Amino acid sequence: MEIQIDRRSPVPIYLQITNGIKEMILKKKLPGGFRLPPERRLARSLGINRSTVLNAYRELKADGLVDAHVGQGTTVVPQGQTLNDPETVQPLPWRQLIRDSGSRNQDPLIRDLLELTEQRDVISLSIGLPAPELLPLQILRDIQDRLVAELGAAVLLHSPTEGITSFRETLCQQMTIRGIRCSLSDVLVTSGSQQGLDLVIRTLINPGDEVVVEEPSYFGALEAFRGAQARLLGIPTDAEGMRTDILESVLARHRPKLIYTLPTFQNPSGCVLSLQRRRLLLALAYRYQVPVLEDDPYSELRYEGDAIPSLKALDPHGFVLYLSSFSKILFPGLRMGWLAGPRSAIRELALNKQTVDLHSNTFGQWIIDRFIREGHLARHIRSAREEYARRRDVMIEALSALAPPGFTWTKPEGGFYVWCRFSGTVSPRRLMEQAAIERVSFLPGAPCFAGDVGENYLRLNFTMATPEQIREGVRRLARALRAVETEPRNRDRTGVGTPPIV
Ligand code: PMP
Repeated sequence: MEIQIDRRSPVPIYLQITNGIKEMILKKKLPGGFRLPPERRLARSLGINRSTVLNAYRELKADGLVDAHVGQGTTVVPQGQTLNDPETVQPLPWRQLIRDSGSRNQDPLIRDLLELTEQRDVISLSIGLPAPELLPLQILRDIQDRLVAELGAAVLLHSPTEGITSFRETLCQQMTIRGIRCSLSDVLVTSGSQQGLDLVIRTLINPGDEVVVEEPSYFGALEAFRGAQARLLGIPTDAEGMRTDILESVLARHRPKLIYTLPTFQNPSGCVLSLQRRRLLLALAYRYQVPVLEDDPYSELRYEGDAIPSLKALDPHGFVLYLSSFSKILFPGLRMGWLAGPRSAIRELALNKQTVDLHSNTFGQWIIDRFIREGHLARHIRSAREEYARRRDVMIEALSALAPPGFTWTKPEGGFYVWCRFSGTVSPRRLMEQAAIERVSFLPGAPCFAGDVGENYLRLNFTMATPEQIREGVRRLARALRAVETEPRNRDRTGVGTPPIV
């Protein structure tokens, strides 16, 4: 049932609703027995008071068109039509049915960026994917064939919610390489780390809870927290990562439910939290009794400098939930990630996972397990590091040669992204439009911030495009920047982040 109201009309709103519903009943668009939406829900979806809807329903009842019974709501009185009269079927207004914290408020950015991966003439510097031509397809085919021959249908049947045992053992060994001690029951396999984020949110976050995030942060996590109606407390970052001095004052004033951090090659800024700040962050978490979610998909991709231990490796007290993924190294389409943490927390997370997807992709777990056990991963990471370091340098060189004055960027020691800032006189929306015309895409900065800042940043990925595409992509971006920098900024129509991006 779709009702339109006109706030400028002299007809009172309750009467507009009455007349609209009356017309649908008399034209037999609402069949006998049709249950009108509960007053509260209709009021919310129309953005009006509940009493206005109540008055409309009263009018309809007075006209004998609807009936109201306790427990049944308000239903249409039958007007003498048959049950399966096709004339009476009303289109279902899906948008009015969406629950409060449902998809209505979600930014379509990720979906739009993923859609881009299918458009061939656009150079994508936006999405964070590994280089497709580097993925070891022949090894994958070989492992796949052998798995099917050896294990038969078992590789495609259901498997434990926590993940197949062999894979979890392998993950524990991988964690040991990263300096983290853990045993089988401390690990939960997830369908990508995005699901790990979702599970942590389902398990810990109530609507209204406060969550500490870095400014900027991974936009997919910010969206997930917002979807759960969490209140975000943004902590600024500098070259050494999250400002722990500011974190301290925030923790002293608020009692957040969670600290979400990307200490190593942060998405989007590429920065690394210094060892001193890692220790400080943990000390603060202990003092204020706040769990930490460490999101770490990039730490294996260090191109220079010395590795710094993860927060999890520095935490003997079980405050850190560690989240990682194979998406940035191997096949992101297999959706393979994992969470590691104290077993009491992992147990609760697994209970929530079983209602979401029962378990992660069984075949994918077997494939990656074999890939690692046969020693391919270490070799693959070595060649990925080499190639990505080269591509990062190509991007930095291209920016140095082509970017207009006022455009600045960072040179990350690892990870996937160059974080850029452009002049405040450039309209972010116009830049995106112009980049779409030039057939190049980037990630706008605004969705990476919890607060109302960051409009003049953008993120460039240097791992997916080939070196030639990177050069051409930067050339196109520079052209787009030059084209819009002379325009006045007031041409912005709406905020950045919601429109489809190409
Ligand atoms: N966390 C971070 C920091 C990421 O950058 C990404 C991917 N962009 C994810 C989580 C989700 O990745 P996936 O679900 O593919 O593992």
